[in-house]
Amino acid sequence: MKSVKKDIRALTKEQLRQFFEDNGDKAFRGNQVYEWLWGKGAHSFENMTNISKTTREVLEQNFVINHIKVDQMQRSADGTIKNAVRLHDGLVVESVLIPTPTRTTACVSSQVGCSLDCRFCATSRLKRMRNLNPDEIYDQVVAIDNESRLYHNRPLSNIVFMGMGEPLMNYNNVLKAIDKITSEEGLGMSPKRITVSTSGVPKMIKKMADDKVKFKLAVSLHSAIDEVRTAIMPFNKNFPLSELKEALEYWYTKTKSRITYEYIVWKGINDREEDINALIRFCSYVPCKINLIEYNPIDDGEFQQASNQSIDNYIRALESKAFVVNVRRSRGKDIDAACGQLANKS
Ligand code: SAH
Repeated sequence: MKSVKKDIRALTKEQLRQFFEDNGDKAFRGNQVYEWLWGKGAHSFENMTNISKTTREVLEQNFVINHIKVDQMQRSADGTIKNAVRLHDGLVVESVLIPTPTRTTACVSSQVGCSLDCRFCATSRLKRMRNLNPDEIYDQVVAIDNESRLYHNRPLSNIVFMGMGEPLMNYNNVLKAIDKITSEEGLGMSPKRITVSTSGVPKMIKKMADDKVKFKLAVSLHSAIDEVRTAIMPFNKNFPLSELKEALEYWYTKTKSRITYEYIVWKGINDREEDINALIRFCSYVPCKINLIEYNPIDDGEFQQASNQSIDNYIRALESKAFVVNVRRSRGKDIDAACGQLANKS
């Protein structure tokens, strides 16, 4: 019977050091291999030139190095790049590079499919197949960093967890990936340039606050009225806005980090005055800013972006109460790379 070799990148540095010690070698060897895996992005043991041949053979016998593969890369007219990423077991997720004049942002996936059921999002139509491993999240970032250097002559500057999946339903792996991304042995990126976007899982928001994470939090709010929110994001029934509010207050007390609310205005759904008033009330709970995002249609018109007039009403009302509000235009729509459009069409 073929024995199943372990993915070496699932080991912590400590575990790697232990492995070498257990095999009568120096623990320090673990640091060297770790550097090859995470710092230099080695895809094979053969490339680890400062490791002896015998040791490399031992590694070969015990481990594999799983790696994602960018199966297909599509480039949009606006410079956005979408990667279809194949995982070691053949499943596919997508990640996106979004360039602006001053930054390059990677939008990465955290799950294959999604466990939630937001009715306006293409990903929610896919079944959640599995969580991504830390290395699979990390690799998406490295791939986009390379593309950023190649096509835009600059390194990646920001990361948003706004691809496929609900990051807080894969919290441990997302955290491990961010640890690698921010550590000096990994990419050395500042956590302040990383945003985790959630549909709002109160228990996990509190956990993040307790863990004193240093990255930013965005919440896909879309409505501050339970009835409306449950209609478009059915899981809201289990995590009502009162619980979300309490979790966000907890988050702010512990982290002092301002929250971003993502909000789409749809015709006939949340474009009434009472919707605006409810949002204003919700925004007064903790320091925040509001990103009004453009809706990317994914269906036959069940959801329609509200008129400019309705969006202006939101902006005027929010600004009159001194809230910071940005209007976010979509990028990469021509290649189905925009928010909510990631669904492996290929
Ligand atoms: N599950 C996480 C992250 C993935 S969704 C979350 O819900 O935040 C990333 C963002 O895209 C969310 O703000 C989501 O509400 C938004 N989104 C989903 N479908 C969209 C669509 N069709 N058009 C525009 N934005 C969409």
